[in-house]
Amino acid sequence: MGNLAETKPHAVLVPFPSQGHINALFQLAKLLYLRGFHITFVNTEYNHKRWLKSRDSNSLDGFNFETIPDGLTPLEGNGDVTQDVVSLCQSIRKNFLHPFGELLTKLHDSAVAGVTPPVTCLVSDCFMPFAIQAAEEHALPTIIFNPCNACTFLTSLHIRTLLEKGLIPLKDESYLTNGYLDNKVDCIPGLKNFRLKDLLDVVRTTDPNDSQVEFVIEAADTFHRASAIVFNTYNELESDVMNELYSMFPSLYTIGPLSSFLNQTPQNNLESLGSNLWKEDTKCLKWLESREPRSVVYVNFGSITVMNPDQLLEFAWGLANSMKPFLWIIRPDLVIGGSFILSSMFENEISDRGLIASWCPQEKVLNHPSIGGFLTHCGWNSTIESICAGVPMLCWPFFADQPTNSRYICNEWEIGMEIDTNVKREEVEKLINELMVGEKGKKMRQKAIELKKKAEENTSPGGCSYMNLDKVIKDVFIKRV
Ligand code: UDP
Repeated sequence: MGNLAETKPHAVLVPFPSQGHINALFQLAKLLYLRGFHITFVNTEYNHKRWLKSRDSNSLDGFNFETIPDGLTPLEGNGDVTQDVVSLCQSIRKNFLHPFGELLTKLHDSAVAGVTPPVTCLVSDCFMPFAIQAAEEHALPTIIFNPCNACTFLTSLHIRTLLEKGLIPLKDESYLTNGYLDNKVDCIPGLKNFRLKDLLDVVRTTDPNDSQVEFVIEAADTFHRASAIVFNTYNELESDVMNELYSMFPSLYTIGPLSSFLNQTPQNNLESLGSNLWKEDTKCLKWLESREPRSVVYVNFGSITVMNPDQLLEFAWGLANSMKPFLWIIRPDLVIGGSFILSSMFENEISDRGLIASWCPQEKVLNHPSIGGFLTHCGWNSTIESICAGVPMLCWPFFADQPTNSRYICNEWEIGMEIDTNVKREEVEKLINELMVGEKGKKMRQKAIELKKKAEENTSPGGCSYMNLDKVIKDVFIKRV
């Protein structure tokens, strides 16, 4: 091995094994690679196979992939067992530490043999708590990466407080609908005007031994052991929460939005290296070309959200009746029960203005001038990608941190409106019209564009997120080289 490789810092990145988390950490991996790092990106075996299948080219010198098993029993047929987040989290707690430790040993041996540079640092998703333990056993520093909003990170640290105060678990199922979740939460410093229902969805549990609650607590207990913590956000988005977190952690940095960071960074040979696990349908970009500026509603519920056939129909007819052009991404497993049929009446109705596809290059779609609004499930990546594109949103939050994101979008940033969980076509139609051509929509678009500008300022040279990434690289990533 030559001198260059010997002195190159080497980052090992470990995402939570689902699409949104992988995408965000992949963006950070690319930024580090462009700053001269050797990269090892760790996927589960299952996801890596999907990743390989969904693309034409996949190799790049110094940007390597390694895999660990997910410990789950494969489903019959083509079913995706990792969509069951509860089982996945249980497996992460039980099965990931050992193979990951072995991987670190393998990387160590590879460095001793002069094949790859010695590992300098681990970057672990904040919901992969085994990684920091393995890193400590190998005397490596860990940077914890928060791929969600800052409020969720803060809430995770206070789940015990909510338990101690008796706010959770809920006494019984009736508490989900009897107004109890509308209570303001005043026992988490830094949270203002948040109701229980706005927080991470584990607070909705009625089970005193809920495994997801335990999972979040276990993850949060590792946060103080990290050498640094980095967030895929920028300060102005959640300043109250960030100020509280700065007072708790001496080495906490906002380095986002990574999407905006990468948009402003010449990517050279990295451009074609994507992280999607589904094959992208690029014909929708061509279709968008034929549409008027800001005229199209983009509809996408991310990689995990599911809905029943009735909900699908309500969205379908709400979209059709709004008379606005739309691009709707319907994942093959979006509808519970698998197959779904949209009637020929619906197909005829929308044939001149609707396009349905199964997966798309979302960031390219959101940044297309024809897009005027985004009907979303409010995953953090979708939220922040929409902000980076200056696109206002209609929100239909599903689980995890999505209620929090929706609260921010609608109430704090005022760049969107929420659709009732019990979705009805009349409401969808009305809100689409308000968003696309109404006065409210105009104001929301204006605010979204202001947030986009702030995102760009933060991630361009001299901006806070830009300087923070430089600082964390200097102080933690390469300190040991
Ligand atoms: N995504 C995409 N094409 C699609 C749907 C989703 O590229 O058709 C990407 C999207 O850009 C985002 C990620 O998948 O980066 C979804 O993450 P998010 O946090 O929004 O939601 P999740 O899938 O985790 O619920």
